[in-house]
Amino acid sequence: MEKMQFKAESKRLLEMMINSIYSQREVFLRELISNASDAIDKIYYRALSDDSLHFNKEDYYIKVAADKETRTLTISDTGIGMTKDELENNLGIIAKSGSLAFKNENELKDGHDIIGQFGVGFYAAFMVADVVTVISRALGSDEAYKWQSEGADGYTIEPCDKSDVGTEIYLKIKENTEDEKYDEYLDEYRLKSIIKKYSDFIRYPIKMDISGKRPKEGSEELEDYKEEQIINSMVPIWRKNKNELSAEDYEKFYQEKHYGFDKPIKHIHISVDGSIRYNAILFIPEKIPFDYYSKEYEKGLELYSNGVLIMNKCGDLLPDYFSFVKGMVDSEDLSLNISREMLQHDRQLKLIAKNISKKIKSELQALLKNERDKYTGFYQSFGRQLKYGVYSDFGSNKELLQDLLMFYSSKEKKLVTLDEYVSRMPEDQKYIYYAAGESNERIEKLPQTEVVADKGFEILYFTDEIDEFAIKMLMNYKEKEFRSVSSSDLGLEEEDKEQDLQDENENKELFSYMKEVLGDKVKDVRISKRLKSHPVCLSADGEVTIEMEKILKAMPD
Ligand code: ADP
Ligand code: MG
Repeated sequence: MEKMQFKAESKRLLEMMINSIYSQREVFLRELISNASDAIDKIYYRALSDDSLHFNKEDYYIKVAADKETRTLTISDTGIGMTKDELENNLGIIAKSGSLAFKNENELKDGHDIIGQFGVGFYAAFMVADVVTVISRALGSDEAYKWQSEGADGYTIEPCDKSDVGTEIYLKIKENTEDEKYDEYLDEYRLKSIIKKYSDFIRYPIKMDISGKRPKEGSEELEDYKEEQIINSMVPIWRKNKNELSAEDYEKFYQEKHYGFDKPIKHIHISVDGSIRYNAILFIPEKIPFDYYSKEYEKGLELYSNGVLIMNKCGDLLPDYFSFVKGMVDSEDLSLNISREMLQHDRQLKLIAKNISKKIKSELQALLKNERDKYTGFYQSFGRQLKYGVYSDFGSNKELLQDLLMFYSSKEKKLVTLDEYVSRMPEDQKYIYYAAGESNERIEKLPQTEVVADKGFEILYFTDEIDEFAIKMLMNYKEKEFRSVSSSDLGLEEEDKEQDLQDENENKELFSYMKEVLGDKVKDVRISKRLKSHPVCLSADGEVTIEMEKILKAMPD
């Protein structure tokens, strides 16, 4: 038996990698399962061009088994296997990817199901194992070989027996230390949940012998049993045809994924096969998550590359104003970095994010148009976020969001859109009027609303602090400016300036007395045509209205 050495740099690289690439140890299993899946895929692709090979899907699977007594975790597959050379090249040379070479050699333009590309994933096994043993027999060969390594020290290869084509990987799981626990990687339940988390959509069955207790036949006594189960769901729902899926299927997915405890108001299933290919399933929740308007809330979508989970919450996929959206994106066109936890560059991601935003907007618009009640419910939960979106806008959010806004209407006594408001405006109405206050009831009683309401004009009630700020950013909608009912110029019919002057002169003494009494609480005391049934009202000059002033004053400096 000949012992071979890693080259010096490789040795360092291996140490470095084992300890620093991955942020979580559990991904070792994702890496080994991905390799097994690639190995099966390779037989599948071979069979496409080789008539002597038949690919029976039933014959191909991955098996994970743990033995606590010997501290051994085994991952075996019925894939293409490795020859002696391949064991040396692919497992002995770090950063050499047999899978990438396979894709290139076979010019597999559609070989995008093959996951491997960097040639480092395998070594993740050393994060949890002292000794890694690989027994493999390659397709078309009757020899099998055993590769074994204790990490940076090097590896050995020797012939061995194996009856079927495929690969078995034995991990001797490390002993627990004071600070580090490794037992969990021998625990059925834990292994199962790691598989579910990262490898649920691997296309081949991942089997495990699961033990449990069940009632003995014909008796109440319980007996232990072990039963082979398939752990992964295999076909991801997002790759299925939309027509085959029911609303319940999506709901089930929403719940299984723990996106929320509510029932989503709407699901959006996107399949794009353009310059960038991706599938996405998005949900608009019904209820506000308890932490939604807090700092703890983290927006984002799950990001998959080829059915393998890469990131739990990819924040870059969602703009802040759609931060309530839940769901996932799967793309085969992402350029992953070596740990496969991040992306090398975000060009593709930006494209996907842009696409997704447009789609969410149009779906929300459709909801507004076709299912008004549902939309209103949604708006009551998340409308504020849309308004923040308008307010914090520097670019194009405005265009994107303005049609989704709703405000309570004095006339309709319900939430209406700006479009609805404008389309109802009589010809002599210059502005979109609004009144700000704590509640609809309070606003209704505001003296300032009277003149506008008496003209028969509709008033929008702003009860959210953000409302007026957002509208200031919008400035106008369909060329109609917004105007607060407490503004000094309401743009109503020409006011009679002469009469005003005369009135002012007649009351000069009274006004200057009032000004004296009120001191710097007011800037001026003027005659007003605004009032019908109320004796006085406050009005504001300039951009900042009284309501805004209140909010600004209440804000911490
Ligand atoms: P990558 O998967 O990115 O290529 P890995 O370090 O995970 O890198 O694996 C290196 C290479 O080893 C793979 O490209 C493949 O050629 C080979 N390999 C690893 N595991 C298996 C397996 N279970 N069956 C067949 N070949 C394998
Ligand atoms: Mg790999």
